[in-house]
Amino acid sequence: MTKVIAINAGSSSLKFQLFEMPEEEVITKGLIERIGLDNSVFTISVNGEKQKEVTNIPNHDVAVKLLLDKLTSAGIINSLDEINGIGHRVIHGGEVYTDSVVIKNEDIAKFEELSELAPLHYPANITGIKAFQNILPNIPAVAVFDTAFHQTMPESSFLYSLPYDYYKDFGIRKYGFHGTSHKYVSQRASEMLGRPLEQLRLISCHLGNGASIAAIEGGNSIDTSMGFTPLAGVTMGTRSGNIDPALIPFIMEKTNLTAEGVLNVLNKQSGMLGVSGFSSDLRDIEIQSAEGNERARLALDVFSNRIHKYIGSYAARMNGVDAIIFTAGIGENSDVIRAEVLKGLEFMGVYWDPALNKTRGEEAFINYPHSPVKVIVIPTDEEVMIARDVTRLT
Ligand code: ADP
Repeated sequence: MTKVIAINAGSSSLKFQLFEMPEEEVITKGLIERIGLDNSVFTISVNGEKQKEVTNIPNHDVAVKLLLDKLTSAGIINSLDEINGIGHRVIHGGEVYTDSVVIKNEDIAKFEELSELAPLHYPANITGIKAFQNILPNIPAVAVFDTAFHQTMPESSFLYSLPYDYYKDFGIRKYGFHGTSHKYVSQRASEMLGRPLEQLRLISCHLGNGASIAAIEGGNSIDTSMGFTPLAGVTMGTRSGNIDPALIPFIMEKTNLTAEGVLNVLNKQSGMLGVSGFSSDLRDIEIQSAEGNERARLALDVFSNRIHKYIGSYAARMNGVDAIIFTAGIGENSDVIRAEVLKGLEFMGVYWDPALNKTRGEEAFINYPHSPVKVIVIPTDEEVMIARDVTRLT
């Protein structure tokens, strides 16, 4: 038996889950928020009970120390020696990392180089890695990349129709994200279908605040909707997804924003928030739409219409599809979005049952038994994938 901790470090937050492996039992989990700000919040479950502490946490080193102290002082573990490995979620592996890796010093130097590909997320990931390294230097740490699963995409999928030298000189290509989630649900789908992954053509819809669709053939990602950054693809909570690139200079001229300013609008003020004008949170939008708010209805329609079209195009890409998977906050919970996305796919053999579609937050088939294409709701579990990779590589 070994204990493994899965870490997801953001710029002002640190999420953690401690596992007993190989049983995959969650011993504790929690979140440290507002690191470096006033009134930082440390939430951890102890014996199944959530404990919340408001305190001053100036940086990630202090956050990690607080977490590790708590694990022992609350009796969750007897000593830090019981932790056998640490797994870090890392946003970008570029073309360097096609699988998770045990982190060595030269890897950290590579992460710093790759940082320019994901400047919003990467520095926080590196800070999290270093904070654990400072306190637990002898415990192996593994990086699990959001992009790695998509490294199997063929060149025809990942290449943009731009001057080829841009790819060679600057690494400009589609990388794709949410790879750990797409990989997890594709493996679960194979188990639930009782068919080997090698035989399956799957379309995975990860629909959370960020959203991406992946075409998975024989267990390999062959295309995905996010691109060089997580801004591309379908409409999201606050992100625009694909737009005509000529709009960027046009918006700059109309609004006097800089390129960075427009990018900020596309990342933070667009998507369902931009269309609805009041919220990026699908629950708010569903409530308002049911009450007759036209802009809320429009946000729902724009969001579901983009996902619907990706499903059609990925089915074409794979010459058919065996199962469509819904996961993450919206995919797992929203019967409204699933219904809108699935409506009008009967032509390609998707027959779904409105009664089964009511399912929320648990694994379930929502297709009619006779449907040639299965439709499956699968709660994602990126943390267990991180813990599995730590166990596999250390
Ligand atoms: P993140 O990308 O931040 O991890 P999540 O996977 O938690 O996001 O998904 C958040 C989204 O899921 C929000 O838009 C939220 O409204 C939506 N969501 C969560 N629960 C429900 C629900 N019961 N019904 C509809 N939408 C839900």
